[in-house]
Amino acid sequence: FQVPTPINEPVKSYQAGSPEKIALKAAVAQMRSEEIDVPMYIGAEKVTTDEKVRMAPPYDHKHTLGYFNRGDEGHVEQAVNAALGAKEAWQNLSWEHRASIFLKAADLLAGPYRAKINAATMLAQSKNAFQAEIDSACEFIDFLRFNAHYMTQIYSEQPNSAPGMWNRLEHRPLEGFVFAITPFNFTAIAGNLPCAPAMMGNTVVWKPADTQVYSARVIMEVLREAGLPDGVINLIYTDGPVAGEVIFKHRDFAGLHFTGSTAVFQHLWKTIGENISMYRTYPRIVGETGGKDFIIAHKSANPKALATGIVRGAFEFQGQKCSAASRAYIPNNIWEETKGYIVEDLKSVKMGSPEDFTNFVNAVIDERAFDKIAGFIDKVKESNMAEIISGGGYDKSKGYFIEPTVVVTQDPMFLTMCEEIFGPVITIYIYNPEHFEEALELVDKTSDYALTGAIFSDDRYAIELATKKLVNCAGNFYINDKPTGAVVGQQPFGGARGSGTNDKAGSVLNLLRWVSPRTIKETF
Ligand code: GLU
Repeated sequence: FQVPTPINEPVKSYQAGSPEKIALKAAVAQMRSEEIDVPMYIGAEKVTTDEKVRMAPPYDHKHTLGYFNRGDEGHVEQAVNAALGAKEAWQNLSWEHRASIFLKAADLLAGPYRAKINAATMLAQSKNAFQAEIDSACEFIDFLRFNAHYMTQIYSEQPNSAPGMWNRLEHRPLEGFVFAITPFNFTAIAGNLPCAPAMMGNTVVWKPADTQVYSARVIMEVLREAGLPDGVINLIYTDGPVAGEVIFKHRDFAGLHFTGSTAVFQHLWKTIGENISMYRTYPRIVGETGGKDFIIAHKSANPKALATGIVRGAFEFQGQKCSAASRAYIPNNIWEETKGYIVEDLKSVKMGSPEDFTNFVNAVIDERAFDKIAGFIDKVKESNMAEIISGGGYDKSKGYFIEPTVVVTQDPMFLTMCEEIFGPVITIYIYNPEHFEEALELVDKTSDYALTGAIFSDDRYAIELATKKLVNCAGNFYINDKPTGAVVGQQPFGGARGSGTNDKAGSVLNLLRWVSPRTIKETF
């Protein structure tokens, strides 16, 4: 059997009067008006508890969207047992039947659930309609459809044989259960983290960030409607350390699929290392973590294209993308013109509630993120080594709003050139155009992250030099484009160094981490 190569789900435009806009507005209004109680999904059960945690739109934090039910250690154990209990039947189901379930889920998201998942992402993760569409509809659907297609490749790949023998490779799932931890910033990441291991025959305990629970439960509804058997993916809302206490001490823990901060990932890796002798099998550890993503321009770069790359790369999705541009190196021969375009572009950018579809910038996810980002902006304001040329304002009275902020510094090692901010702030260092190679060296030595980066240049020698010199600086490298917006099936996504294990989301490489193949040789 084959799952044919899919096409990427087309992005809808949400023009005035379009059916998708009418449906989305209605879904937002309806979901806004109800207060829901979100259970955990463990095995066949929907589990509620006495600890209710309030959910609110980040752009209107006094409004209540509902409550989710916080779990304790007992719930984690229940989820692990449900995953282990479902394992045998699930792994024995033919791969094409597993694929079918996820293909059906993709169709449900593309059709009847599209407005609901986009509305959930807008309301609880503060994304505008277009960002929600790109993330929770298109990218999510693409993960499911492309990964189902990659299953074909994996299961059909076989070693050579010779007369007198037949060699087989059996792509067994891992022995045990997989733990998936998803972040708030991309609903689509949940199309990969719990789903990819499940596609390969594993069963999963899935813990989303608290700020993702609101959209995660829509995903669970979709997966259940698509026919995912009970216990294959179990959704729990416990505190991280509470979940870790059970999961990382369990003999059957077989893999971690993680997106989140570098500090948490390193902590989890250490915990797994300390407990290594407890496990039946060496756990797979796959993580995508932080970034300090760069744009470097050569003196030949087109200032307009560069300015667009900076504005879109740094400020779309409120800069809350692992891939968002947060430092740039621009030669002074093109700086004034580039700056003019950046400042002009940002004047037309509107900030506010995503319920008004004309707002480009929405609130950042929560108060903690707001305080951290505002703290960096304050440090810039206090410094005489850097100045703000656009933005710099923030206000959390109604929602967690931070203006797109452009900082220029004379110090290439200035605080905001080096530290991950994870918000709408970019810092630019202006360099002497004759010192391009030195600027490339600065890009390399300034950060221990290596997720995404971009070169803007019209000079092919400069492009080649940058591509070679920056070989270890980015898992995703873009030539004359912003460093964001990887499309599943087109730009497999992931970073190295401090940014993760680089097991490329949206590619066969990721799915291969969730199997433990058995080689069988038979002699005749
Ligand atoms: N895949 C997204 C991009 O290329 C980023 C996902 C993330 O922030 O983790 O922009």
